Amino acid sequence: MDFMLTEDQKALKKKAREFAINEVLPVARKYDESEEFPLPVIKKAWEKGLLNLGIPKEYGGPGFGLLDSCIVVEEISSACPGIATSIFDNNLGAEPIVIGGNEEQKQRILNELVNEFKLIAFATSEPTMGSDVAGMKCKAEKDGDDFILNGNKFWITNGGYADYITVFATIDPEKKHKGIAAFILDTKSEGVKLGKHIPKLGQRSSNTVSVGLKDVRIPKENVLARPGRGFVLAMQTFSHTRPAIGAFACGCARSAMEYSIDYAQKRETFGRPIGNYQVIQEKIANMYKDIEAARLLTYKAAWEADQGMDNNLSSSIAKAFASDVVMNVTTEAIQVFGGYGYLRTYPVEKLFRDAKLYQIYEGTSEIQRIVISRFVMKQYQHAMPFLGKKRIQ
Ligand SMILES: Cc1cc2nc3c(=O)[nH]c(=O)nc-3n(C[C@H](O)[C@H](O)[C@H](O)COP(=O)(O)OP(=O)(O)OC[C@H]3O[C@@H](n4cnc5c(N)ncnc54)[C@H](O)[C@@H]3O)c2cc1C
Repeated sequence: MDFMLTEDQKALKKKAREFAINEVLPVARKYDESEEFPLPVIKKAWEKGLLNLGIPKEYGGPGFGLLDSCIVVEEISSACPGIATSIFDNNLGAEPIVIGGNEEQKQRILNELVNEFKLIAFATSEPTMGSDVAGMKCKAEKDGDDFILNGNKFWITNGGYADYITVFATIDPEKKHKGIAAFILDTKSEGVKLGKHIPKLGQRSSNTVSVGLKDVRIPKENVLARPGRGFVLAMQTFSHTRPAIGAFACGCARSAMEYSIDYAQKRETFGRPIGNYQVIQEKIANMYKDIEAARLLTYKAAWEADQGMDNNLSSSIAKAFASDVVMNVTTEAIQVFGGYGYLRTYPVEKLFRDAKLYQIYEGTSEIQRIVISRFVMKQYQHAMPFLGKKRIQ
C-alpha cells in the first residue's frame, strides 16, 4: 500500500492550487453575490487544461485518472465550491460518453470538448423525481433510427450554458429501469427550452436550470445507450463521479478548518486567544481528523475506479462520509467564529451554505446509505460465527 502522491500528482496539485488562489478565490464572493455564471473562470480552466480532466489521451484529453481529478477538484473547491461545481460539471456530462459512447461518438464529441471551449451537462433528474432514477417520465419514442424526446428535466447544472447535455429518457415509464435510454442532446436542437437560472441557498454561481424537451429529434448517431442500457450507464457514471463529490467536500471543509485555525489564534476572549482553550482545540482537531478520513475514503474510491474495479460501494461511502464531514466542519467553523461566523463578513458563512449541496446532488446521503446497507446486509462476509438458526423473538 502506498499513500504517497507521485511527482506528477504533486505537480498537478500545485498547478490546481495556483489556479484556485489566483483565478478562483479573488472572484468567489463576487459571483456568489451576483449569482452570475463564472464563464470567464471556466474558460480559463479550459485554457489551462483543468476542464475535461477525465477525457482519455486518444481523444485529445489529458487522460487523468480519477485520483488525479480528485486532487484537482479539492484544490479548486477550497477556493469556491460553486465555481468548482461549474468547472467539473463537464466531467459529469462527458463521463457517460467516456464510459458508454461508441468510437465515432468519442472521436466527435470528446475531441470537440477538448479543442473548443464547449460545455456539456448531465440530466437524469426531473421535477417529480431525483432519487428514483428508474421512475423518470421524460419520453423517448423511436422514429425510424432516430428518437423523439418529450418531457422536462430539472436542476440541470450548467444547463443554461451547455452546448450538449447527456440526457436520460424512457421508452415507457412502466418499464422502470428496463426502459431507460441515454442520448447526446445538442442544445441548439429544435424543441429544446432552457429555463431561467433557479436561485439557491449556496453554490450560487453554479447555473441550475430546467430543460424542456418538446418533440426534440435525436439523430441515430447521438443515441448513447439503447433502451434498457441507460440506467446502468447512469449508475456507472455516478460511481465515477461520486468520489469527486468527496473531493469537493474535502476542499470546502479544508478551507473552513484553515479559516478557523487562523481566527482561533487571533480572536481573544477573557484575555487569551480562543485557540488556547481546549474546547476550541478539540473542535479543530476533530475537523482535521475527519477531513483526513474523508480524503482517504475519497482517494480509495477513486483508486479503485482507476484500477478498473467496481467502486460502486466505495464511491457511496466516500460521498456519504465526506459530505457529512463538510457539513459538520462548516457548522463548527461558524461556531469558532462566534457571531462573526454568522455574518457575511468572513468566508465561513458562504462555505456553510455551499456545503449543504454535497448531501443532496448525485444521490442524497440517504440513497448512499441504501447502497451501503444493501451490501452490508446481503453481501458482507462475516468473520464471526453466526448466532445460530433460531429466530430471535
Ligand atoms: C443545485 C443542484 C444541482 C443539481 N444538478 C443536477 C444535474 O446536473 N443533473 C441532474 O440530473 N440532477 C441534478 N440535481 C438533482 C439531484 O440529483 C436531486 O435533487 C437528488 O438526487 C435528490 O432528488 P430529489 O430532489 O427529487 O429528492 P427526492 O428524491 O424527492 O428525496 C426527498 C428526500 O427523501 C429522501 N429519500 C428519497 N427516497 C428515499 C428512500 N428510498 N429511502 C430513504 N429516503 C429517501 C431523500 O434522500 C431526500 O432526503 C441537482 C440538484 C441540485 C439541488
